Amino acid sequence: MRNVVIICAMLFAMLLAIASSAQSKNPYYSRTDSKVLQVANSEWKRILPEGVYRVAREEGTERAFTGEYHDNHKKGTYYCYVCGNPLFTSETKFDSGTGWPSFYQPIRGSSVKYHTDKSAGMERTEVECARCSSHLGHVFDDGPKPTGKRFCMNSAVLDFASSAP
Ligand SMILES: [Zn+2]
Repeated sequence: MRNVVIICAMLFAMLLAIASSAQSKNPYYSRTDSKVLQVANSEWKRILPEGVYRVAREEGTERAFTGEYHDNHKKGTYYCYVCGNPLFTSETKFDSGTGWPSFYQPIRGSSVKYHTDKSAGMERTEVECARCSSHLGHVFDDGPKPTGKRFCMNSAVLDFASSAP
């Protein structure tokens, strides 16, 4: 009888782990593979939750203070929600007061790529994931030391994992 209880508990834990992994249906997601992805938007649309697709592939912006991570103060790593590429750590996160998760630098210079965005009647620098080319947010020059940069990101395209205690 005790064995049955243990097996049931293990099965339940496994199911929970699978269900909590939002990327279980995403074959491109990897936190270790750095190979650049070229995947059609029609394929991403099939895989990604609607809110993620809108930001990542249609350059949408989530409403301020509505995302999961603007007020997250846990220690850990922020990965690209779309492909698993490591993007930022909690070490470089700061409270910008904007309602979007803000960082003063990416994990590596090669984690992200930039291009000029002239939409919405202004010129801004768009930040994309270097692995899957998903839109992440914008970078501004009013950030804190040591870089003076403010990477203004959308929670929807970030996937946070706490560091081991
Ligand atoms: Zn990515």
